[in-house]
Amino acid sequence: MNWFEKMKSGLKTRIKREVPNGIWVKCKQCNHSNYDMELERNYWICANCRFHLPYSTQQYIDLLVDQNTFTEINKNVAPIDPLSFKGYREKIKDGKRKSNSKESVLTGMGRIGGHSVALGIMDTRYLMGTLGSATGEKICRLIDKAIDSRCSLVLICKSGGARMQESSYSLMQMARISAKLHQLSSAGLPYITIVTDPTYGGVTASFAMLGDIILAEPGSRIGFAGQNVIKQFLGGNAQLPNDFQIAESVVEHGFIDRIVERKEMATEISKLIAILTNNKHKTSIS
Ligand SMILES: [Zn+2]
Repeated sequence: MNWFEKMKSGLKTRIKREVPNGIWVKCKQCNHSNYDMELERNYWICANCRFHLPYSTQQYIDLLVDQNTFTEINKNVAPIDPLSFKGYREKIKDGKRKSNSKESVLTGMGRIGGHSVALGIMDTRYLMGTLGSATGEKICRLIDKAIDSRCSLVLICKSGGARMQESSYSLMQMARISAKLHQLSSAGLPYITIVTDPTYGGVTASFAMLGDIILAEPGSRIGFAGQNVIKQFLGGNAQLPNDFQIAESVVEHGFIDRIVERKEMATEISKLIAILTNNKHKTSIS
């Protein structure tokens, strides 16, 4: 090794040592800087205000589903561009790249606390988790699967609402999924919704609020129209309460049933399924 290579390798070592392994992540609720490795250990919950920072689809699977029991279904259901909406195809490609999924919801079968469940997880990295026709198709197929397999349905909601690029094709999914949920209910099977940050628009106005039990993560924004839209509607200077559309105030108004911390979520779902299906032998409830 000549002097130049020696110097280069020394420089590399010094740079490696000086660059920290993790990064600081700012909490969007209180602006506290959290070390990412610490967040990872703490379920991505802000150490200062307990706000639940965004969790990925895979993290929810790891958190909730019994190890090695999850199987994804209908992976290849993908959106088309029925209205030839300008720029939509590029947005689909972008969403696919960011989320590594062909639609804004991932669906599959697995077990939570030993109970068989049909599980759907929405992903805001894909066009803000909007409800497109393929999203609706995947959720409807998941409900059919739950009915066929006689198991509970759990949906983790996280969405900006209906997908404007699909117009009425998107809006139709609200009615379609609601009708399917009626079939699930008629079959005597439970449906649990987990509302996470943010859940808005057509998703709130349909399946997110149709759960037999509606749980929410702390600090989640839950509403129909967003805060900015409401402010504009009320006039430029309108002030909204600090806790407007936040889970903690929404639960007080009876819109949701309970706020559950992320680390308690799997146990809570397992207990609820046991109660709803009268299957107490699989739970620690006494
Ligand atoms: Zn915070």
